[in-house]
Amino acid sequence: MKKLENKLEQNKVRPTAMRLLVLKALQNQKAAVSLQDLEMTFEKADRVTLYRTLKTFQDKGLVHSIEDGTGATKYALCQDGCECAPEDMHVHFFCNSCNDTFCLPKLKIPSVSLPQGFIPVETNLLVKGICANCS
Ligand SMILES: [Zn+2]
Ligand SMILES: [Zn+2]
Ligand SMILES: [Zn+2]
Repeated sequence: MKKLENKLEQNKVRPTAMRLLVLKALQNQKAAVSLQDLEMTFEKADRVTLYRTLKTFQDKGLVHSIEDGTGATKYALCQDGCECAPEDMHVHFFCNSCNDTFCLPKLKIPSVSLPQGFIPVETNLLVKGICANCS
């Protein structure tokens, strides 16, 4: 738990029992999780608390959100040093078979040169297909 506490403090998030539990749950996931997934992990916690915890983590650069076309926003832990800037972002993979969404942190999104006057805020690259567990 000490390591998790440090991680929160490094990102200027006050470690509460709930935040530590959510962080731990996120670390144990191989795929990105939706709010609904988290609700199933924490049957006793209410949805609003879980949502706020995720939002806090997102604001502080602990997690990033992913739109994978399923309609549910999914969340995954950021790599150390990630500032969620467009140049930090990696490719995501959505599996059509198990519906899981994975971070591919080694695959950075190539930078695109935008026309003059266009300012990037976030970039997204989602590949769909069959994941290694299902192929
Ligand atoms: Zn990030
Ligand atoms: Zn799969
Ligand atoms: Zn990711």
